[in-house]
Amino acid sequence: MQYFLNGFRPGDPRIKAAAPKRPAAYTEGGIEEVDVLIVGCGPAGLTLAAQLAGFPEIRTKIVDREPGPIEKGRADGVNVRSMEMFQAFGFAGTVKQEAYWANETAFWIPDPDHPGNIKRNGSVKDVEDDLSEMPHTLISQARIHELYLDIMRNSPSRLEPDYSLKLRDLTVDTSAADHPVTVVLERMEPDREGQTVTVRANYVVGCDGARSAVRTAIGGELRGISAYQAFGVMDVLATTDFPDIRMKSIIESTSEGSVTVLPREGGYMFRLYVQLGKLEQDERIADRKVTPEQIVAKANRILHPYSVDVKEIVWWSTYEVGHRMTDKFDDVPQDETSTRNPRVFVAGDACHTHSPRGGQGMNVSMGDTFNLGWKLIQVFKGRSDPSLLHSYSAERWNEAKRLVDTNRDWTRATSAPQGESELKKTGIHIAQEQFNLNRTFTGGLAVCYPPSVLIGDAKYQERATGQTVGKRFHSAPVIRLADAKPMQLGHVAEADGRWRIYAFAGKGDAGQPGSAIHGLSAFLESGEESPVVKYTRPDEDIDAVIDYRAVFQQGFREISHGDMPSFLKPSKGIYGLCDYEKVFCADLSGGKDIFDMRGIDRDNGCMIVVRPDQYVAHVLPLDAYGELAAFFGGFLLPVS
Ligand SMILES: Cc1cc2nc3c(=O)[nH]c(=O)nc-3n(C[C@H](O)[C@H](O)[C@H](O)COP(=O)(O)OP(=O)(O)OC[C@H]3O[C@@H](n4cnc5c(N)ncnc54)[C@H](O)[C@@H]3O)c2cc1C
Repeated sequence: MQYFLNGFRPGDPRIKAAAPKRPAAYTEGGIEEVDVLIVGCGPAGLTLAAQLAGFPEIRTKIVDREPGPIEKGRADGVNVRSMEMFQAFGFAGTVKQEAYWANETAFWIPDPDHPGNIKRNGSVKDVEDDLSEMPHTLISQARIHELYLDIMRNSPSRLEPDYSLKLRDLTVDTSAADHPVTVVLERMEPDREGQTVTVRANYVVGCDGARSAVRTAIGGELRGISAYQAFGVMDVLATTDFPDIRMKSIIESTSEGSVTVLPREGGYMFRLYVQLGKLEQDERIADRKVTPEQIVAKANRILHPYSVDVKEIVWWSTYEVGHRMTDKFDDVPQDETSTRNPRVFVAGDACHTHSPRGGQGMNVSMGDTFNLGWKLIQVFKGRSDPSLLHSYSAERWNEAKRLVDTNRDWTRATSAPQGESELKKTGIHIAQEQFNLNRTFTGGLAVCYPPSVLIGDAKYQERATGQTVGKRFHSAPVIRLADAKPMQLGHVAEADGRWRIYAFAGKGDAGQPGSAIHGLSAFLESGEESPVVKYTRPDEDIDAVIDYRAVFQQGFREISHGDMPSFLKPSKGIYGLCDYEKVFCADLSGGKDIFDMRGIDRDNGCMIVVRPDQYVAHVLPLDAYGELAAFFGGFLLPVS
């Protein structure tokens, strides 16, 4: 964590200096004007709000129809990819400390010798080795909301949601250039019933859940199929003789269906997902009027010969599994993308829904708006043309499709009638097999954006075989040169809208004059075509748009920070203080060398360009100055 750049400030460094307070802006007719209106304070809305809150020059408003934040229930699975993203927001450490870590998943199947009983069929590592430096965690969605709200509260804009405001109506004036979206919000407080508030926005982002009013207003519809499967879910405090109650467990009985046990934060509470059975074609789960007692009874039948004695039901719900998504995640029809830029977006459950059992809903929803946030920032800061915003729907729709399809296959496989016949020849049960096949996917790491203006081609992929172009940057251990601090390289990335170039030095390169790192540093610092020079305003720190870092193969005692090229020791802030945190060495303490772990070409090195949302945008030779300049020239606008 770096702070005090522009002067000493006492107190908690997480509480950023407040930007000068700007009163709300109103038109002559008393209508509030904002840059971005976010509808919905779920994981999608809050991920976006937390990102935008760091930019007080962007007028952001976030509303929710509820009177305040939720306190319990809903999603609880945070996959490793989301944990990596939380690291960028600065609260992964808190989640790691508080949450349950799903390290191992146990599988229970019908006992062939006693078909009414279940028996343990082994367990597997939940997250494969070196899939991520982060654990898979389980913690209440409500707590994640709180952590985001803290980021917003402590940001320069001190952003707070406006609760009890429900979106009633949304219209887009496609002929207007300024604040073209008009939204009517209805006040939900009992004493203000019927009152409305009108807001005009440059952009509206509908993070308003599966029944999204924003989606409906732009003509979107969730289409797909129902699996006609009903589930009950409950967070409980209970006593039990089931031996794996503190292990994530997938349990299948002969004829009663399945239970998933998810141990939770705090060491005592756990969640049960209980399969309630098939629904008829036109039947809704609500019609069955299921009670929590019925869910507990069903769980006990599945768990036989074990049982749970529930002392407190913290939260419960029922749901029916469906796999649905919308055609497009913004308001521009496919045949108008060349003539119109998007003004309204939908994200999260508003544009894709699937079974909660795969633990994807919250994760993918946050991934949606982490993708959109930095693009909006880039457009508002005048760094990119608004046409960049088309890439949000293009990139996230494909990922949602993959999610919905995989989740549907998983539901089919794991909800089929159970019995010995499903034991494969290998002895691995079908749920176990599906689990093993899908670990990268459920970890959130299958996302791979195709080549586009924001993702380069894979021409030089062999220079970094473990950093796939289009996939998220895979962190690994390094030692920071200036202070010998062991750390994860990926943790230098914050959710701050900046691009990163990691230059990996070739053999013998210590940053000396004539070396490839020296050459690249000099080009970036002052080259005529340097993207740093071209796209950074004179009043900004030199790494405000592109944050350049270097990693050397030598141990940290073998090279000197003082010998580094000047661009790796930049002066920043009002005092021109040196940034000492740009240079790293491989960790040679055994088995942790980033060059080996990530398949970096040791002879030649390479540079890896990483997007603000942590995805690898390009792998290039260290001297590919022209290709680097052309890549950034594809979407950044030169400073005027
Ligand atoms: C009741 C419920 C139970 C769930 N249970 C599970 C579970 O057991 N396991 C699991 O993995 N996932 C569960 N989910 C799904 C999981 O919570 C979502 O996948 C995840 O929260 C998606 O995040 P989101 O931000 O897209 O939408 P949401 O979290 O749904 O957030 C949408 C927000 O928008 C607000 N909103 C809606 N309409 C309007 C409007 N017109 N105006 C203003 N605000 C509006 C809502 O109040 C809400 O705060 C559940 C969801 C719900 C609603």
